[in-house]
Amino acid sequence: MHILVVEDEDAIADPLVVGLRREGYDVSRVATGEGALEASSADLVLLDLRLPDLDGLDVCRRLRERSRVPIIVLTARGEEADRVVGLELGADDYVVKPYGLRELIARIRAVMRRTASLDNAGGPMRVGELDVDERTRRATLAGSELELTPKEFDLLAALARDPGAALTRRRLLAEVWDTSWYGSSKTIDVHVAALRRKLGDPGWIETVRGVGFRLRMP
Ligand code: CA
Repeated sequence: MHILVVEDEDAIADPLVVGLRREGYDVSRVATGEGALEASSADLVLLDLRLPDLDGLDVCRRLRERSRVPIIVLTARGEEADRVVGLELGADDYVVKPYGLRELIARIRAVMRRTASLDNAGGPMRVGELDVDERTRRATLAGSELELTPKEFDLLAALARDPGAALTRRRLLAEVWDTSWYGSSKTIDVHVAALRRKLGDPGWIETVRGVGFRLRMP
């Protein structure tokens, strides 16, 4: 998943980019509104509203005019008007500075979940012959239903939401088990092993050494 960070202050942008990359996101950063409008398409945009060249709200509106990309606006404390207008112009959420990385990542996940379920309102997520339908909580492989426990389903759905992406153990723990307690990392291995068995080919879930896992067609 590719995140575009639009932020002019290096002191804010640099640790943000590092932190998001550590979470397994693909990140690019621009420092101006023009840069944001010229950037190649992203899966999500983090948009600072106080930019040196253009009004961030204007950038938000122009991004929204041409794509449905999820946008989270970053606003300063005390700028309530910006938040309201940002949401009216099509931003999906806002985060108030100074924010913690964990809070921001939780918002990113929530926005992605929301937009993924909208995008998939017409049908399940599909990776090759694997279909994962979060609405009905059913997963099928080549048309045959997989008998999954609730957590196995949640884990498969988390992987299927972003096929090919390396998802960190920490992110999977947070998304599937609502915890970042690192000690429970073994739980992931147990569930991954069960999923591989049920999918019939361990190649579906690839181990990314030192990071976590990715879903791909074997
Ligand atoms: Ca700024």
